[in-house]
Amino acid sequence: MARAVRSICIVGGGTAGWLTAGIMAARHCSKSGGGLQITLVESETIGIVGVGEGTWPTMRSTLKKIGISETDFFRECNASFKHGAKFAKWATGEASDFYYHPLMLPEGFPSLDLAPFWTDYSQAHSDAPSFSDAVCFQEAVCELGLAPKLITSPEYAGIANYAYHLDAGRFASFIRDHCVKNLGVRHVVDDVTEVVRNDTGDIDYVGTRKSGRLGGDLFIDCSGFRSLLLGETMCVPFVDCSDVLFIDRALAMQVPYDHEQSNVIPHTVSTAQKHGWIWDIGLQSRRGVGYVFSSQHTTTDAALEELRTYVGDKHRGLQPREIKIVSGHRQTFWVGNCVAVGLAGGFLEPLEASALVLIELSADLISNMMPLTRETMDIVAKRFNAATQYRWDRIIDFLKLHYLLSKRTDSKFWIDNRDPNSVPESLKEQMELWRYRAPGDQDFTSSQEMFPAASYQYVLFGMGFRMETRHQPLARDSDVARRAFAQNAALKVKWTKILPKNRDLLNKIREHGLQKI
Ligand SMILES: Cc1cc2nc3c(=O)[nH]c(=O)nc-3n(C[C@H](O)[C@H](O)[C@H](O)COP(=O)(O)OP(=O)(O)OC[C@H]3O[C@@H](n4cnc5c(N)ncnc54)[C@H](O)[C@@H]3O)c2cc1C
Repeated sequence: MARAVRSICIVGGGTAGWLTAGIMAARHCSKSGGGLQITLVESETIGIVGVGEGTWPTMRSTLKKIGISETDFFRECNASFKHGAKFAKWATGEASDFYYHPLMLPEGFPSLDLAPFWTDYSQAHSDAPSFSDAVCFQEAVCELGLAPKLITSPEYAGIANYAYHLDAGRFASFIRDHCVKNLGVRHVVDDVTEVVRNDTGDIDYVGTRKSGRLGGDLFIDCSGFRSLLLGETMCVPFVDCSDVLFIDRALAMQVPYDHEQSNVIPHTVSTAQKHGWIWDIGLQSRRGVGYVFSSQHTTTDAALEELRTYVGDKHRGLQPREIKIVSGHRQTFWVGNCVAVGLAGGFLEPLEASALVLIELSADLISNMMPLTRETMDIVAKRFNAATQYRWDRIIDFLKLHYLLSKRTDSKFWIDNRDPNSVPESLKEQMELWRYRAPGDQDFTSSQEMFPAASYQYVLFGMGFRMETRHQPLARDSDVARRAFAQNAALKVKWTKILPKNRDLLNKIREHGLQKI
């Protein structure tokens, strides 16, 4: 007799645990008697990591899918809009050095590739606009501090593609309440003190301090950096990636606004420093600011000084929280009846906010491929592992690209980052191809790429990389390209006139709410 998979036990109540619970419970009708039964256990004493404030646009479809109102989300999670990221001082370190990685695709992409046209034009004209400004109206909108939509836009719909900045602590509790009240997830607040395996090697149950044994057909490890189930119990080794990505420390602080009504910057600002970079994220009531750096290249005290210089004298009294980051991931992600999601599966530095989106994609994949019997679980596990390994590899390449292209020479941190021994072979190969043609969808194999080819274009050209276009066939239609550039220029004029200031829209959402869909 095949053994049915009916119950899931999730260990961990951080963003990973609750997002996974929400995605699975909504899809598999946990609320009704016939659906999957989901239990989430989280410790009373071990807190959540509590950082992680930048998301991807995928969060919009995730929240919608699990039945959350966008208005409630803005009101409860101190959330704000995010158009993408502005990278300052990454290429040369000069005061004027910045570029954008917006969330919208270049005009006409992917059927039209404007990169060779822009390359030719920018090489002939010193006053050419930046790549992102030439092909996408979002940079102009960001520079003016505007929101991506109007108060009349329905929930989750945008004029510009957008993601969110959010308060990680409030977000986890907000999703928890929704999961428990509306989606039928059973919530146990208790410490897991033992994880017990059966004769086959599967996890049989987790033992808790007060609530006894919690069983399950599938166990999802969302226990954070400790990786209690997959790492400690199933003994899956950790693959250290610090030879490629050197960041291993974070100093995080919450910075008040000058005035209650200061505008809220509608993009993440990531400013390169001597030994890492500082994130600056505007929420409705405060900023989240943090310096991530390499402890191999500087000390915590020196990094703190750099962070203090960044936030200014006025905020000298703020005490940051120090977080140790171990750069890497588990060798495999699903073994037997145990799969890890979130920090339990691994973590790389927060550049490009790839962690929450990976949680959403992983939970979606588990949910969509949900094995109905224990006998088919190993097949699903094999597929999940292949897809997830591919995603980690792509994230590593994409993050490394930002460092590889830098021309900064002001510290060993930047110089070491360009050492060819620290660059993955897969990225070296891509760079070789991209010397002559721009990144395109053909360079990637997954239908659900973490970072599409357009993201690579924004970073490459933003960082000053230039292709040699002379080998490209002349079949390029410059009239079509001219029309696309003109269309972008027209959209820029239109939307910079119409879109409201980010703060104004956030105030209106608090007061009136967005139109329900
Ligand atoms: C400095 C920094 C900045 C970041 N910035 C971003 C960002 O901008 N964007 C982004 O996408 N991501 C970011 N991240 C990553 C993001 O914070 C995490 O991916 C996300 O919060 C998920 O964490 P988690 O739920 O896996 O782990 P945690 O939040 O650590 O939760 C672990 C849970 O496990 C529970 N637990 C542990 N042990 C036990 C036990 N024995 N018994 C019961 N329960 C237990 C804990 O109680 C807790 O509920 C950042 C991370 C860091 C460190």
